[in-house]
Amino acid sequence: MVSDVIRVSSADNVAIVIKPDGLFEGEIFFGSLKAAEPIPFGQKVALQNISINDPVVRYNTVIGYANQSVSKGTWLKNDYIKTPPSPEFFRIDFSKSTDEEVEKLDGYTFEGYRNSDGTVGTKNVLGITMSVQCVSGVIEHVVSRIKKDLLPKYPNVDDVVGLNHHYGCGVAIDVPAAVIPKRTIRNLAQHPNLGNEVLVLGLGCEKLRPELLIDGDNYSLVYLQDPRFEGFQAMVDGIISKATVHLERLNRRRRVTCPASDLVVGMQCGGSDIFSGLSGNPVAGFAADLIVRAGGTVFFSEVTEVMDAATQLVERCANETVAKKLLEEFQWYQNYLEAGGGDRSDNPTPGNKRGGIANVVEKAMGSIAKSGTQPIVDVISPGDKVQMKGLNFVATPASDFVCGTLQLAAGMNMHVFITGRGTPYGLSMVPVVKVSSNSELGKRWFDLIDLDAGQLLTGQKTIEELGWELFQLILEAASGRKLVAADKLGLRNDLVLFNPGPIT
Ligand code: CA
Repeated sequence: MVSDVIRVSSADNVAIVIKPDGLFEGEIFFGSLKAAEPIPFGQKVALQNISINDPVVRYNTVIGYANQSVSKGTWLKNDYIKTPPSPEFFRIDFSKSTDEEVEKLDGYTFEGYRNSDGTVGTKNVLGITMSVQCVSGVIEHVVSRIKKDLLPKYPNVDDVVGLNHHYGCGVAIDVPAAVIPKRTIRNLAQHPNLGNEVLVLGLGCEKLRPELLIDGDNYSLVYLQDPRFEGFQAMVDGIISKATVHLERLNRRRRVTCPASDLVVGMQCGGSDIFSGLSGNPVAGFAADLIVRAGGTVFFSEVTEVMDAATQLVERCANETVAKKLLEEFQWYQNYLEAGGGDRSDNPTPGNKRGGIANVVEKAMGSIAKSGTQPIVDVISPGDKVQMKGLNFVATPASDFVCGTLQLAAGMNMHVFITGRGTPYGLSMVPVVKVSSNSELGKRWFDLIDLDAGQLLTGQKTIEELGWELFQLILEAASGRKLVAADKLGLRNDLVLFNPGPIT
């Protein structure tokens, strides 16, 4: 299937050059068209004459309008495409598409840590939560001490992680927007991989009361301003002695066989190129369908990236209530962008554009491909926890770190991250399976990428083969049998809270 260009839909009037050296002038491509000029890899070529103000169609969707006439076989540069107006969310009506009965997928399992609340962990980690950033230096010190002195004594505990953030004081804590960071911190502390063992470190005088972050029986709370601590060493010893109690209990956790329906897989992309929407995201979408068919849960997110596909997403909502929630989240985000003087053109990035993506509409169509084809059963507000199995839209910014943090708070126990330009993204709390959208990156970053979806473009593998491979890889990594590249290399990005509220 090695080809020169890819056209996604027969309705499209542009295609993407996938020949590694690009098209040369006079080269015959797409059967019988002739390239009028050299057109680089990843860029768009006009398949028809496109007049000024004509729609530019990709993914069977108008991604923009030509601001100059372009003849068949020439390079349709991104500068020649005007972005269409934003969808008016309140004008989109929900109309139920016919329910297609999906074939169930039985018999797939992984080895996970089952928690008393029914959630399942994929790692066994001691998490140290904090109520305010003032204590982060102490957490860093304690984490490195525990790693060095204690973890060797608790061989069943994989890691100790400080749940760092920049919140808790110096912020307007009672404004409506504060609900997002507050519930995020709380839900992160209850993440399935932390085994309901909550150790909270507070300072003592902060606005965010550490008591608000704890729940259940297995928690402990240490204040650095506790008058019993005379000096730094006493403080550290106090925290370590509490940590030991949690480590003892975590060390007794064992992996048990769990059905694939216990997977909660967060899909995300970052450092995208034009191929993310052609190979990486569709492969992730195929795996997403397999997980949902197996009864599991899939998240997709990145509001700023997908809201231009609002009409298409509303059609996929399971019912009108879900559609309404989705559009409310989009509208909320639109208002948030406007309050900051921004708009949707602030996504994509310059790297996206160099990678061949013209605008946010084109990016949206490529982005939603990673959600697969199943109905959206629920919409989760930023910082909230998942309630329903199946495909969920978790309303988060597109920023890799904020999205990853909010998907963690929602309860994701596995992460799939698709990249085309390349980013070394990793999280300490869950395994991150990294997928490259092109083989050039897959080869160059051979030890940073877990699966090369570019093999779809070169014709080496089909979408079905790669989708199943990704699904199996998720099960293996969730079981701890396969170490993902980011974990092998110890690459971890910080958690980043989404705080739409004011700083004081
Ligand atoms: Ca992202």
